[in-house]
Amino acid sequence: MSDASLPIVRTVADLRARVAAWRASGQGVGFVPTMGALHEGHLSLVRLAKQNAGRVVASIFVNPTQFGPGEDFDTYPRDEARDAALLASAGCDLLYAPTVAQMYPPGASTTVTVAGVSEPLDGAARPGHFAGVATVVTKLLSQYGPDVAVFGEKDYQQLQVIRRLVRDLDLPVAVLGGPTARDEDGLALSSRNAYLTAQERPVAGELNRALAVAAEALRAGQAVAAVETDAKQRLRAAGFQRIDYVEVRAAEGLARLGPGPVTSPARILAAAILGKTRLIDNLAV
Ligand code: AMP
Repeated sequence: MSDASLPIVRTVADLRARVAAWRASGQGVGFVPTMGALHEGHLSLVRLAKQNAGRVVASIFVNPTQFGPGEDFDTYPRDEARDAALLASAGCDLLYAPTVAQMYPPGASTTVTVAGVSEPLDGAARPGHFAGVATVVTKLLSQYGPDVAVFGEKDYQQLQVIRRLVRDLDLPVAVLGGPTARDEDGLALSSRNAYLTAQERPVAGELNRALAVAAEALRAGQAVAAVETDAKQRLRAAGFQRIDYVEVRAAEGLARLGPGPVTSPARILAAAILGKTRLIDNLAV
């Protein structure tokens, strides 16, 4: 395996030049934005992009504006050489790895905020997070105009926020959602799983199991309020120290559902803290 074949660009000008050459030969462009520390989930999105476009760009940018004070911006795992090799093996054609100064030159003062869909759940638990995400994604998409952009359902609310901003701002890109890649016990793959201790790792799988049990109960017609309460109880009993939310919401738009049974397409979403790791997951109901 060699990463020598994966070109890396760090400026908008170089990115545009590469993409212009592809376009001149009639090839479409797919895009997978990431923060690096790549795993099979990210690579599955690269493969999905490749199925939908002749060429694929992945970006690695640990975006400071989507981290809150006291969050893990400084310690977020970074290993560009390893990531580049993985991207090449998944069929990626170009890595865009801009610097913070490239993305946010001095005086940058424009922020994209998406009302409504970005306000509950992680929006409430992590103030400012989705404004950081919406701003950086808008910039990345505007910098060179990919035809297709792929995001993971693992971050379901983020996917909804991005679909909304692309629609509201008339960005000429098709947004695709990719299914969540999981470990054998159901734990959603995440760069942050590296923070889990050996003792915490088996407990972490309980997040997905609790959601699977809850989704099944909802499908069987049980009331939303009771199902949410049961799932939280199960997570506390398993050893999660804090539960930010376990909520059943509309699959599109994320309106609150319940307290009775669900009667329309729904998603159950959860965030909980185990030791120093914050885990999120979600399932279709
Ligand atoms: P991140 O590097 O964590 O910002 O994630 C970059 C992209 O990968 C986002 O669209 C995530 O939703 C997606 N992603 C992260 N984890 C997974 C996973 N386990 N399965 C599928 N997609 C994922």
